[in-house]
Amino acid sequence: MSTVSATLSVVPQRSRVTRAAAARDLDAAASAAADFLRSLGVDPDDPATPDLAETPHRLALAYAELLDVPEFDFTTFANAEGYDELVLVRDIPFQSVCEHHLLPFTGVAHVGYLPRARIVGLSKLARTVDHFARRPQTQERLTMQVADLLEDQLDPKGVGVLLVAEHTCMTLRGARAPGSATTTSSLRGHLRENAAGRAEFLTLVNGGVR
Ligand code: ZN
Repeated sequence: MSTVSATLSVVPQRSRVTRAAAARDLDAAASAAADFLRSLGVDPDDPATPDLAETPHRLALAYAELLDVPEFDFTTFANAEGYDELVLVRDIPFQSVCEHHLLPFTGVAHVGYLPRARIVGLSKLARTVDHFARRPQTQERLTMQVADLLEDQLDPKGVGVLLVAEHTCMTLRGARAPGSATTTSSLRGHLRENAAGRAEFLTLVNGGVR
């Protein structure tokens, strides 16, 4: 038995990351968008603004795209060389929509982990961020979901996720605080409990500058 599992462990392992979603009805969404605009005093059928006629349809399509959760394979490999230092991908751009206003928030994610027996293809870290970003979100939950998936899939010694984003619900409306940035982080295992590990993660996130 141990021979079999040892053989299997060097084979790349693929785990499909999916999310069950309810069926979509773009026509219903476009019709609701037209009602929504009319309720706000914008008539899509006003002959004076002919280009507005297709706007409800475009609005429905735009949100369908923003909320389309992409599936992907989280592919891991045996850590054959025993690499035991931090793996960090910085400045992963992401876009999401806040669940309170359904307005976009955009920024960058820094995602790292301390490997144990498995390592992951680096592009999968960006895929993980995109997967959880493309749905109504809070930045706090997005940060934790990315860290959770890495913990579940890799069983690493530590995980570090740090997101910096600008929320248009705060910059374009409400407080109207353009340029304000929100930072969230989720540190796990060695990167949370060990001061030196934590400091190294934050140093590398900042480009190696102390
Ligand atoms: Zn908001």
